[in-house]
Amino acid sequence: MGLYDNLRKIDPYVPGEQPQNKDVIKLNTNENPYPPSSAVLDVKERYNTDNLKLYPDPDIKKLSDELAIYFNGKYNTNLTKENVFVGVGSDDVLSVAFQTFFNSGKAILFPDVTYSFYDVWADLYKIDYDVVPLREGFLIDPEDYNRDCGGVVIANPNAPTTVALGLDAIEKILDDNSEVVVIVDEAYVDFGGESAIKLLEKHENLVVVQTYSKSRSMAGARIGYALGGYRLIKAMEDVKFSINSYTLSNLQIAMGVASLRDEDYFKKSVEKIISTRDRAKEKFKELGFNCPDSKTNFLFVTHESIPAVEIFEYLKTKNIFVRYFRKPATIANYLRVTIGTDEQMDALFKALEEYIDKK
Ligand SMILES: *Cc1c(COP(=O)(O)O)cnc(C)c1O
Repeated sequence: MGLYDNLRKIDPYVPGEQPQNKDVIKLNTNENPYPPSSAVLDVKERYNTDNLKLYPDPDIKKLSDELAIYFNGKYNTNLTKENVFVGVGSDDVLSVAFQTFFNSGKAILFPDVTYSFYDVWADLYKIDYDVVPLREGFLIDPEDYNRDCGGVVIANPNAPTTVALGLDAIEKILDDNSEVVVIVDEAYVDFGGESAIKLLEKHENLVVVQTYSKSRSMAGARIGYALGGYRLIKAMEDVKFSINSYTLSNLQIAMGVASLRDEDYFKKSVEKIISTRDRAKEKFKELGFNCPDSKTNFLFVTHESIPAVEIFEYLKTKNIFVRYFRKPATIANYLRVTIGTDEQMDALFKALEEYIDKK
């Protein structure tokens, strides 16, 4: 046996490009174009040397507590820190959730078009899975998830389709799968979706995952969290403490708390994205594009005559980056365009107009 024969072989998730060139208009990874709250930039833990000498709090109590209080205020729930699991972005949280919840040996279910990390984790952790085709218009039909399975994962709103599912449909999936965990990945919920957090008390099998990366403009800070019943959360903690106890630095924890305390800024920046998105949608239509109704900070567009891949390559020559997925075939003629600032979107539309005029 050679040295390399026993290495783990896996097709990894491929994140969107992070070009180092500052002149790029970057609409390819669903980051928020606005800065985080100034309170986040001001956290005084930055200057505290103990934060480098000592290990951070492995239980991340301060942030878990603050998240519970924040959502209790918002949804009138009775969450405590025992209902909160915090991780290094929601990718880390989802990865721990997959390892914790999907051990039945039965296939888990998620849509055929969704966040392309789910099948990577399933492969990595040797979890069997079946993908469920979306219906016409990229819709998720809850009836398709009414079958024997090892668990369900739904991104709501879904990515990259931008389509949101109503809470009544989520509730049907929860009812039909009461013996297994249903993960609802709400990375984009703040841009117009309805959060399943208010269903937590009624549905023991629900785990809601959210992130600071998109609506809180903190993709670089790497903070995500799961909310669920204390027994599910405790099981996730046990897995985490079997891998790496110190996942978040004190600086990240303090930044996470500061962001939650500046609700005004949060609301304003989310509203700004939504209004730019709705304007952009109209502009795309004028230029011959179509897209589903978006409840996210991006649009999923297809042109009536020009192939998506050509537009993608052209925009790159103009230093404008959007996201193109070659697979699966049902979305191979779509582009995922993150909502940037008004100026960035104007530059995008100027480039598109020039291109389409010449066609
Ligand atoms: C962006 C995204 C995530 C991961 O975000 P983190 O930066 O790791 O918090 C998870 N799920 C979906 C659907 C996403 O789009």
